[in-house]
Amino acid sequence: MELSRHNILTKIHERDEYLLVNLLSREADVLSAAEGARLVGGEHRDDAELVRKGYVVDPQEEARRYRAAYLDFVDARDKDEIQLFYVPSYACNFGCSYCYQDEYAAPPAGGPAAAPDAVLAAFFAYVDDVFAERRKYVTVFGGEPLLPSAAARRAVEGLVEGTARRGLDLAVVTNGYHLAEYLPLLGRARIREVQITLDGTAKVHDARRYLKGGGSTFGPIVAGVDACLAAGLPVNLRSVLDRDNVEGFRELAHFAIDRGWTKSPLFKTQIGRNYELHHCQGEQARLYSRLELYQDLYALVKADPALLAFHRPAFSVARFLFAEGELPDPLFDACPACRTEWAFDASGRIYPCTANVGKPGESVGTFYPERTLDETAVAAWQERDVAGIATCRDCALALACGGGCGAVAKNRVGTIDAPDCRPVRELLALGAGLYGAPDAPG
Ligand code: SF4
Ligand code: SF4
Repeated sequence: MELSRHNILTKIHERDEYLLVNLLSREADVLSAAEGARLVGGEHRDDAELVRKGYVVDPQEEARRYRAAYLDFVDARDKDEIQLFYVPSYACNFGCSYCYQDEYAAPPAGGPAAAPDAVLAAFFAYVDDVFAERRKYVTVFGGEPLLPSAAARRAVEGLVEGTARRGLDLAVVTNGYHLAEYLPLLGRARIREVQITLDGTAKVHDARRYLKGGGSTFGPIVAGVDACLAAGLPVNLRSVLDRDNVEGFRELAHFAIDRGWTKSPLFKTQIGRNYELHHCQGEQARLYSRLELYQDLYALVKADPALLAFHRPAFSVARFLFAEGELPDPLFDACPACRTEWAFDASGRIYPCTANVGKPGESVGTFYPERTLDETAVAAWQERDVAGIATCRDCALALACGGGCGAVAKNRVGTIDAPDCRPVRELLALGAGLYGAPDAPG
């Protein structure tokens, strides 16, 4: 018998205890300093409790369990709901300081974008044929999809009608500036959620997310969130954090709490990290590693636990573990591209996901004017998981990490068949320190 290769042992931040987690046996325990130190030293004496919980294993028996869990994962993913992004246009009314799309070329004059109705019809025909047997929903994405132009409105009308006719949900990703004007139209769809980005309170937000050519955007976005909630549409408020605005996150949280947003069951939040995927992140010093971001969030929450009413950071699987009292299923693959996520744009091209939609050279096929699919490229995406990436196969963190993001891996080393590592141990240490303490903030 030996220690499981899937044990993740970490010293809990600011406490003299350890967290031991095993995603394959789905066990987690807080250990005393002495017990933790014993395991760190590789000592286990075939302890019956450790064996029962799958921390100490017969490696062959564990390999069998790994294979069975992998097959269950693939099965579940094959039945999972698919998210289909549609980008009517890359045009945007904002000139955000960190925008990654601003170098994307406009579609050529006279190309498919000149016949947007035909392209949208081809998109729905493709969805009807190719994803007939799958549960699915559509997300309209940009650029900024909710612009005041007639063309933008017509595209959103087409998506509202096309999804409503098929009984599909429609989600919207918007900067929120013209959201209030669009609500009567969106109210005709089955809206899954409206994702709106707000990076701070007025001063912080407006310094990052301003109109092209300058101009404040905070007020209309806040009015859009208010109007959405009043109209009964779910809001997912997203904040993109980096060194410039993390301090202001606390203020934003209190703004949302004071405005009554956090009381609504329709309101949730998400954090985006401003990261090195695209061309424009010249000022690398501003960028944040995932660990630095979570270290700062930990400190913010410790100093002001009320912030948790606005957002509860995940800290890998720690939030789930301490909220649910159990671990999530093992994550053999964190990247949904070409599996449960596809992206389509008005040029008639198909992309693996939103991280690469519109990016030159990243298309894997077309749905208009004709249907084509680069089977080799699609297979490469579909085969990318922790059982396939060589470095991940032997990684103890694999089933919490899932191999990370294929687009980030490609950006870093030129291929998606490479790891995008998550600092799982360090995140769990922080999360257990925050959520697992006897006096953990509610
Ligand atoms: S490539 Fe990255 S952004 Fe795209 S689906 Fe995979 S994890 Fe998500
Ligand atoms: S991406 Fe890195 S941390 Fe994640 S499973 Fe692979 S090797 Fe481990």
